[in-house]
Amino acid sequence: MRKSLIQKNRELLESEKGAVFKDPGGRLGICLVYPNTYHVGMSNLGFTGLYTLLNSMDGVVCERVFLPEKNDIDRIERTRSRLVSFESGRPLNSFDAIAFSVSFENDYPNVLKILGLAKIGYYSRDRGDRDPLIIMGGPCAFINPEPLADFMDVVFIGEAENEIDDLVRGLGSDGHKTGRLKSLSGVNGCYIPSFYEPTYSEEGKIIKVEKIYPEAPGVIKRVYVNDLNKTILTSRLSTPHTEFKDMYLIEAMRGCPFSCRFCVAGHVYDPPRQRKPEVLTEEIENAREKGLKVGLIAPSLTEYRGITGLLDGKDVHFSITSLRASKRSAEIVKMLKNGRSVSIAPEAGSQRLRDVIKKKISEDDILETSELILKSNIKNLKLYFMAGLPTETQEDIDAIIELVKKIRSLSKKGTISLTLSIFVPKPFTPFQ
Ligand code: SF4
Repeated sequence: MRKSLIQKNRELLESEKGAVFKDPGGRLGICLVYPNTYHVGMSNLGFTGLYTLLNSMDGVVCERVFLPEKNDIDRIERTRSRLVSFESGRPLNSFDAIAFSVSFENDYPNVLKILGLAKIGYYSRDRGDRDPLIIMGGPCAFINPEPLADFMDVVFIGEAENEIDDLVRGLGSDGHKTGRLKSLSGVNGCYIPSFYEPTYSEEGKIIKVEKIYPEAPGVIKRVYVNDLNKTILTSRLSTPHTEFKDMYLIEAMRGCPFSCRFCVAGHVYDPPRQRKPEVLTEEIENAREKGLKVGLIAPSLTEYRGITGLLDGKDVHFSITSLRASKRSAEIVKMLKNGRSVSIAPEAGSQRLRDVIKKKISEDDILETSELILKSNIKNLKLYFMAGLPTETQEDIDAIIELVKKIRSLSKKGTISLTLSIFVPKPFTPFQ
């Protein structure tokens, strides 16, 4: 017999370290939703870090929800039951707010699927004073919020850590929905879509935006944390059922100094910021005490000053999942004792196309780094390429095949896996 979703959730909860159970009485209830499966959501440091941060606040109880597996969705729909929260099994409409953390545009339909499964109205205009406020945060909120704007009461643009107190205060403010939204529109980074009326051209471009609520800000600026050493976003949550199995994830950097022309992460997290090695050392010690592996997170860890000092001589198992192909990677690969997989991203097969996208790595860099990885104790080398980049020709595609053959000929050790993605122009990049 198939297990029910509630049974599955219970088993997952039992295998976690760091889940929080709080009495909801007298507290602001926030349901934090990842619009993809448990496995994907729990691999996301932003999501698990926000869960830890919200639950560290006395007046808040934060529970989670994930997109159920297909057969569980079918069962909820067939039995006309509703999606409930992960920790206490409460219906989502019993929370004061439902906060979606959206990392990928492909998850936009899942946001609506979850609202439907929770039996909550899709459109902001159809929800009233007794419904929870629906908020969108995460990278997609500051990359491309408009496709979901009609469904959201609030979109938070940027990095939430420094605004979290004001945000929670606004969500918990007394009164009807419009009053709460007015109070939230004064919080840095909060975009209240219902306070604006956009006009679209025939091609679907926004040509004019008028304010409906005169006191709403004319421009909503992305907020970001100036000093990453003071960030309070760390995850105390770990599970064996995720990409980063039983791993303590530590953010080393935010933003990337390279700004490759296709890459949204290289543009929307500006300015690039690093945390001091001594701050990371403290967190590494926390992980060691808990007997967990350490996963260092950064868009381009190779550029982290002091990376070798961090990895050196500590009685901790580190995991680094991606490296930029460069001379600096050599030292890092030598220090990784073992590992399942490390990826590098040449993106294009030919030097001409790598120059067009400003990847700033040479074929020698790619070959040298690949050889080191293949000859090390790392079992798998993942290579990421893109097809459909601007100015691409058939020769550029053929060059991918040639490059992969050259890499394979460097060593018989290890496996190589390829990912070929289709280029999609992203907002805020030169290829927009
Ligand atoms: S592709 Fe990698 S190196 Fe380039 S900007 Fe993005 S994160 Fe940085």
